[in-house]
Amino acid sequence: MFKSKKLFTFMFLLILSVFALAACGGSDEESGGDSSSSSSEGESTLETIKANDKIVWGVKNDTKLFGLKNPSTGEIEGFDVDIAKAVTEIILGDASKVEFKEVTSKTRIPMLNNGEIDAIVATMTITEERKQEVDFSDVYFEAGQSLLVEKGSDIQSIDDITADTKVIAVKGSTSAINIREKAPDAQVLEFENYAEAFTALKAGQGDTLTTDNAILYGMASEDSNFELVGDIFTDEPYGIAMKKGSDDFVQAVNDALAELKENGKYDEIYNKWINF
Ligand code: GLU
Repeated sequence: MFKSKKLFTFMFLLILSVFALAACGGSDEESGGDSSSSSSEGESTLETIKANDKIVWGVKNDTKLFGLKNPSTGEIEGFDVDIAKAVTEIILGDASKVEFKEVTSKTRIPMLNNGEIDAIVATMTITEERKQEVDFSDVYFEAGQSLLVEKGSDIQSIDDITADTKVIAVKGSTSAINIREKAPDAQVLEFENYAEAFTALKAGQGDTLTTDNAILYGMASEDSNFELVGDIFTDEPYGIAMKKGSDDFVQAVNDALAELKENGKYDEIYNKWINF
């Protein structure tokens, strides 16, 4: 009896330590360390991507010029989408080996880290805080935060924002954080995505919408009653985000971006979408 109880305890401890070890292996991601070996299961390493023979990209679906779903074709179109295809063509030899999944500013990092997508190419600024959670490629686009208002608005720059101003922003964006620093008195209303945010502005729920100028230009081109005002008040360098520890994938993406800049394809994509 005693003997079997001892055996039971031993087995229990053994199983416990196996679980503990497994947990240690998996916590790689949060450690934020720069161990370059990392290829623990579920990571988007280059090998996994090559074995899957496709790259699953997280893109915006509601952001004109960067990632917008065309309602008549169902295709997602924009600068980010074309960058994703061009990078895929270099890594996997075929631009059609892509799958696109919709992300918002709020969902993109969780979706990357739970393995739903391999990479994010979705108007995403490289920040020190985000670097704790994901790895970034080199900068592939430079934006800056600005304001969109209805033409004739009293707000002509960030200096005109007072305690009475309702500023519309999107959850999970740097813009929602920055505006609180740059205009601490403002009342900030946060929406789930840019489609909802712009609808709210048009419905008069806020006095101004704030995010990257690049995104605001897309909105202004959709509705000529709205315009950008003032200078940009932040720097928003965009990067492609990958799971932490995917060093070989990051390298492959950086090599691909460099090649696109070198062979003129980057300029071609840029000129196709960016005309502001
Ligand atoms: N570039 C900013 C960001 O990464 C704003 C655009 C967005 O929300 O995606 O937060």
